[in-house]
Amino acid sequence: MSEEKVIIIGSGPAGLTAALYAARANLSPLVITGNELGGQVSITNEVENYPGFPEGLTGPELVERFQKQAEKFGARFEFDEVVEVDFSGPPHTVRTHGQTYTAHAVIIATGASPKRLDVPGERELTGHGVSYCATCDGFFFRDKEVIVVGGGDSAVEEGLFLTKFARRVRIVHRRDQLRAGPLLQQRAFNNPKIEFIWNTVVTAIEGNGRVERVRVRNTVTGEEGTLETDGVFIYIGHYPNSTLFKGLVEMDDHGYIIVDTFMRTNVPGVFAAGEVADPIYRQVVTSAGDGCKAAMQVEKYLAQQESRPVSQDAAGG
Ligand code: NAP
Repeated sequence: MSEEKVIIIGSGPAGLTAALYAARANLSPLVITGNELGGQVSITNEVENYPGFPEGLTGPELVERFQKQAEKFGARFEFDEVVEVDFSGPPHTVRTHGQTYTAHAVIIATGASPKRLDVPGERELTGHGVSYCATCDGFFFRDKEVIVVGGGDSAVEEGLFLTKFARRVRIVHRRDQLRAGPLLQQRAFNNPKIEFIWNTVVTAIEGNGRVERVRVRNTVTGEEGTLETDGVFIYIGHYPNSTLFKGLVEMDDHGYIIVDTFMRTNVPGVFAAGEVADPIYRQVVTSAGDGCKAAMQVEKYLAQQESRPVSQDAAGG
C-alpha cells in the first residue's frame, strides 16, 4: 500500500493541468493516466484553439507538453487504470490493476467520451474523415461535403458551425423531428447550406483510407441507400467516464459529477475537474482551467487538514 498526498485520476488536459499546479505546490502528485495518456485531445489531428499556439499543434504534441511541464515540477505518472475506489476516508483508497494507494485528496479527471455509432468503418476511419469534434476538425472540410449524425443541440449547433467551411452540411437524423431547441432549429432551417435527411440511420461508413460515402437506411420504409460525402461528424451525445464513481459521489441524471465553484464533490477530499463534471463547454482550455482550480483547492484543503500555510499560488486564488 502506497500513501499519497494527492492522486489525480485521468491524464487529459484537466488531469495534467491539475498535476502541474499540484506539483508546483510541492504536493508531488501521482497521476494515474488511464488507458490513453491525454484523453480525447490525444486523438485530435490538430488543436488550433488552445491559446498561445497561433500556428496550432497536434493533440499528442499538446499532451506531451502538458506532461513535460508537470513532470518538470515533480508530478509522477503511473501508466495504469483505476479499477476501484473507496471514498469512505479520508484517506481515500484508489486501486489500480497493479497497486493499492491511499490518498488524502483525489482529483477525478476521467473525462467524457463521445458516443459512437458502432457501425462498420467508424473506428477505422476516425481521424480520416470521421470526427466527433467540429471545433477541432471543421476547418479541414473547406468547400467539402459533410454529414452530421444526430438531432440534438450538439448536432444542430455543430452543423451550423460546419457551414462556415463546408459547401453542404447534411444532418442525418433517425426521426422526423429534432431534439434540438427551437432557436437552433430555426437557424438551421433558415441556413441554405443545411439539408435534413429525416428518418434515417447510418449503417456503415466506407472509403479507401478516407471517408467517401455512408450507407443509410430509412427507419420508416426500410429502404437502403448510399450518400457520397467527405466527412462524417457524429453528435449522438457524450457520456461522462464516471461509472467507477457511481453511488460514491453525487452525479446528475446523465452521470456528470456535481461539483461546486471550488471543484469539490459532496465527499470531503474528493474533487472533480474537466469533462467528467462539465456537460457544457468541453474544451481543452476549460478543462485545463478546471484542473488548475481543483489543484489549488486541494492545496487549500490539505493545508487546512494539516493546519499549514498555503503557497502563494493558492493564497492568491
Ligand atoms: P442529446 O441531446 O442526447 O442528443 C443526441 C441526439 O442523437 C438525439 O437527437 C438522438 O436522437 C440522437 N441519437 C442518439 N443515439 C443515436 C444513435 N445510436 N443513432 C442515431 N442517432 C442517435 O445530445 P447532445 O446534442 O450532445 O446534447 C447533450 C446535452 O447538452 C443536452 O442537454 C443539450 O441540450 C446540451 N447542449 C446544449 C447546447 C446549447 O444549448 N447550445 C449545445 C450542445 C449541447 P433522438 O432525438 O431520436 O433521441
